[in-house]
Amino acid sequence: MVIDCHVHICAFKSPHGLMSEKLSNSLPFRFMRWKLGVAGSDASTERALEARLIELIGQTPRLDAVALLAFDAVYDRDGRVVQGNTHLYVTNDYAMELAARHPREILFAASVHPYRKDAIEEIERCVRGGAVVMKWLPIVQNFDPADPICIPFYEALAHYKLPLLSHTGVEHALPNLNKAVAYPALLKPALDRGVTVIMAHCGSRLWPWETDYVPTFVRMANDYELCFGDTSALNVPGRWYAFGSILNDHVVREKLVHGSDWPIVVVPPPTKVGFAEAFGLLGEPNWLRRDMMIKEKLGFDDAYWHRAAKVLRLAST
Ligand SMILES: [Zn+2]
Repeated sequence: MVIDCHVHICAFKSPHGLMSEKLSNSLPFRFMRWKLGVAGSDASTERALEARLIELIGQTPRLDAVALLAFDAVYDRDGRVVQGNTHLYVTNDYAMELAARHPREILFAASVHPYRKDAIEEIERCVRGGAVVMKWLPIVQNFDPADPICIPFYEALAHYKLPLLSHTGVEHALPNLNKAVAYPALLKPALDRGVTVIMAHCGSRLWPWETDYVPTFVRMANDYELCFGDTSALNVPGRWYAFGSILNDHVVREKLVHGSDWPIVVVPPPTKVGFAEAFGLLGEPNWLRRDMMIKEKLGFDDAYWHRAAKVLRLAST
């Protein structure tokens, strides 16, 4: 079973969630909407985006299903929602609803802010609702994974054997509230408590002047059996450099799981796949499929393509 463990969906209207005007009008989001042919910001936009995603999955023959990520709101340390800082919100119920509507193509990925007063109950509700993974983006959702407040959260994830997909390294598509929590080592308390952690983007940076956490990820993937990394967004030009470190380390190579970060645009690295090949790959308009085609050219092996299903405990093959 071949899974893409990192696929986003947007919600525009309550009760499904929200997208702030600031985010909606940002250049990357305007570009993505234009490329996907999705206009507006209401219930019909949600339906169009859902239909487009299902169509694109259907046009990606090697792909069996995607883990579709809910995205929790921002909370303060007292457990109150911070409305003004919440630019993207996709409720667990909406992600669950999409998975129920498309059981072949969509797996439910939950998102629960660890500072929520009802965090443990919500994890349990999501597990009952079929969650295959828990998604976090600490720099945007504004919390510190090393905060002791997270310990009961980790104990619950370990108890339910629900893996944690947590963003590491920089993020540019969404407004950042605390860049310091991009550091992968902050997830050690989760690993120490037996949680399977998938470090999204392998700790990579985008611009050369930003902090590069790939070496930290590589060290942790070597040190912790349950530490994995997803390859999502590594086909964004600034992150291409990360392929070298993660593919050249024989331990880390076995810890990589497939993720695209759709709907972000992916570009083939010409110095790694060849210029003619890169040009040809740009002709593939489906970014879910293009991302997989580039990774095939980069030499990702069969075990890699099947690893996400294993880590998410969906299949033994
Ligand atoms: Zn993402």
